[in-house]
Amino acid sequence: MCRLSEWAARAVTVLACVSLCLSASALEISNRYRSPRNMERRVRSSTRLIVLHTTEAPARSSLNKVSDRGECHYCVTETGQIYAIVDRDREAFHAGRSMWQGAEDVDKYSIGIECVGYHDKAMSTVQLAAIRSLVAELKRMYRIADQCVVCHSHVAYGAPNKWHPFKHRGRKRCGMLFAMSSVRRKLGLSSKPTFDPDTRAGRLRNADEYLRRVLYGNVDTMAAAYGVAPKPAAPKSAAPKSFVQRPRPKLVAPKPTAAEPRSIAELKARGYVDHGAVTKERSASKIAGAAWKSPRTYYTIRNKVIPGSRLDPAHIEKGMHVWMRK
Ligand SMILES: [Zn+2]
Repeated sequence: MCRLSEWAARAVTVLACVSLCLSASALEISNRYRSPRNMERRVRSSTRLIVLHTTEAPARSSLNKVSDRGECHYCVTETGQIYAIVDRDREAFHAGRSMWQGAEDVDKYSIGIECVGYHDKAMSTVQLAAIRSLVAELKRMYRIADQCVVCHSHVAYGAPNKWHPFKHRGRKRCGMLFAMSSVRRKLGLSSKPTFDPDTRAGRLRNADEYLRRVLYGNVDTMAAAYGVAPKPAAPKSAAPKSFVQRPRPKLVAPKPTAAEPRSIAELKARGYVDHGAVTKERSASKIAGAAWKSPRTYYTIRNKVIPGSRLDPAHIEKGMHVWMRK
């Protein structure tokens, strides 16, 4: 009885909370996938970060998974629909093994937003607009600065394992695109973290150089998709003005990358050298260093060629050969 009435009282609070949120922000938030785990979760004592994730799966399965497990506070689909999963003031289990500025277990002090999509694929404008509105509302509520809106890959870290005998950043590339300038502009975010506080302090070591360049460098593979193209070159022709065709501003499609090598013969033809096989003692990162997950490092096994950027660390096999230039 008592539990029931307590539950009812909480449900009323939750409903009140959602409608308050609605009236304050005009955001349409659905409760259809509210997590059954919600009431088990502790209320957070602080909220310092907003962590953006990519589900790496289609909407239906993503929503079912995050709801069943209580893995985020909100989930935003490709059509821009926002679902509330766990109450925003409670802990959701979204960040896993994580650390930021020396503070472990980021779930304890962050809000997690799962965005249906992939860490290396552009999202629709309507989805980005919904994420932007939601983030703006949460930033306002919790007084969170732009540089505290981070990606899961900023904060996730890996425990020492057979590939990395040290605690390392680069366990995940989840949400990686949200660190790119063109995407942040779409989200209305004017700044981002400029360095990794935990690798700088020596608490972690970097294990994914490509990810580091996306998070803290200028790598922006989404720029073309969002129409941020390099300025067209000035016409060189000395022809009279009326003959100069001015390039019309337009969305520039991403430049197709050179086809990836598909065989050992092609690797060799492009100047790649076999740096030997991965063994228990000789990990991929020992062989290739920080470039072990670079798109320019390749792995071969059973005549398959896999670029480092698509290598799943959980499926590195003994006997995989590492190919690099030089
Ligand atoms: Zn994630």
